[in-house]
Amino acid sequence: MYKRDYYEVLGVSRDAGQEEIKRAYRKLALKYHPDRNPGDKEAEEKFKEAAEAYEVLRDPEKRQVYDRFGHEGLEGRGFTGFTGFEDIFSSFGDIFEEFFGFTTGRSRRPRARQGNSLRYDLTITLEEAFFGKEEEIEFHKLALCESCSGSGLRPGTQPDICPTCHGRGQVIRSQGFFQISSTCPTCRGEGQIIKNPCPDCGGMGKVRVERKITVRIPPGVDTGSQLRLRGEGEPGEYGGPPGDLYVVIHVQDHPFFSREGDDLICEVPVSFVQAALGDTVIIPGLEEEGGIELQIPPGSQPGEILKLSGKGMPNMTGRRRGDLYIKLQVKIPTKLNAKQRELLEEFARTEDLSISPAKKKVKNLWKKMKR
Ligand SMILES: [Zn+2]
Ligand SMILES: [Zn+2]
Repeated sequence: MYKRDYYEVLGVSRDAGQEEIKRAYRKLALKYHPDRNPGDKEAEEKFKEAAEAYEVLRDPEKRQVYDRFGHEGLEGRGFTGFTGFEDIFSSFGDIFEEFFGFTTGRSRRPRARQGNSLRYDLTITLEEAFFGKEEEIEFHKLALCESCSGSGLRPGTQPDICPTCHGRGQVIRSQGFFQISSTCPTCRGEGQIIKNPCPDCGGMGKVRVERKITVRIPPGVDTGSQLRLRGEGEPGEYGGPPGDLYVVIHVQDHPFFSREGDDLICEVPVSFVQAALGDTVIIPGLEEEGGIELQIPPGSQPGEILKLSGKGMPNMTGRRRGDLYIKLQVKIPTKLNAKQRELLEEFARTEDLSISPAKKKVKNLWKKMKR
């Protein structure tokens, strides 16, 4: 197979310095990069050709061999060039990062990765949500093994170069005319293996530990509120940052108050006499020890809602407090003693005298329906 001269491929003179060679290759790599020329066979060939030329000319030893003996000289010493894109990217990963200013996602070294984030579900009472509190929570997680500092190596030992891929992290196999490069199954792309694993973590670099953390729950949290504890999740991979711990709040139902956002809602039973004449009653409060004094205005109706501004839940973001809505449940007595009955009948007679034409109409309507 005919091969072009490497200097010609890069467009540099035979005495070009390393910087010039790198610049020339960068230009070609950007121009013929497969991400910019999807499906273009010619660009692919040019990209491979340039990579091969650069692979030789950047290496003083290979360059010397090439200068003296040409392509044949290199072949005689086992240089085969590149088999495909994967091969190029796995060799030049770092260079591409530099060229493009971003990662190709195909470089050999595994990337630093953030550790897993964890979730902890915490149930609290409405009172606790109102005042906020500190709570110690206990959970299990993976933590960096202290014996080996996360390396997985028995202290005092070094990792071995992977015998399958010889440290490349990639293996190449032939399939018909194609050569396919894939992540090395032995080292899972790391290029090295651990022959002497750390006895405490078995080579994992991580151990399962029990953690206790005090969580500060701010006043005003609601069901679904998430408290994020930075870095309290599992340790990262290959030097990545640890994950976070999310404490997810569940607020229990309260026997007296229900909640809508920052507002509190309750129902208060009052007698029909209290509703008619007005009264002052004491209702339970979340913060007031002795309860809240509630004024029931005379003439209050069943289902009427009274509002106490600013007596709802505090707000987590520091906005004004919610309101308290009190729904009046007017109780009609089911049993009357003789005295009460007498009084009510007398009351009814006074009411009859003052009955309005509209009310009479309703009364007549009922009579008709009952017939
Ligand atoms: Zn390997
Ligand atoms: Zn260990």
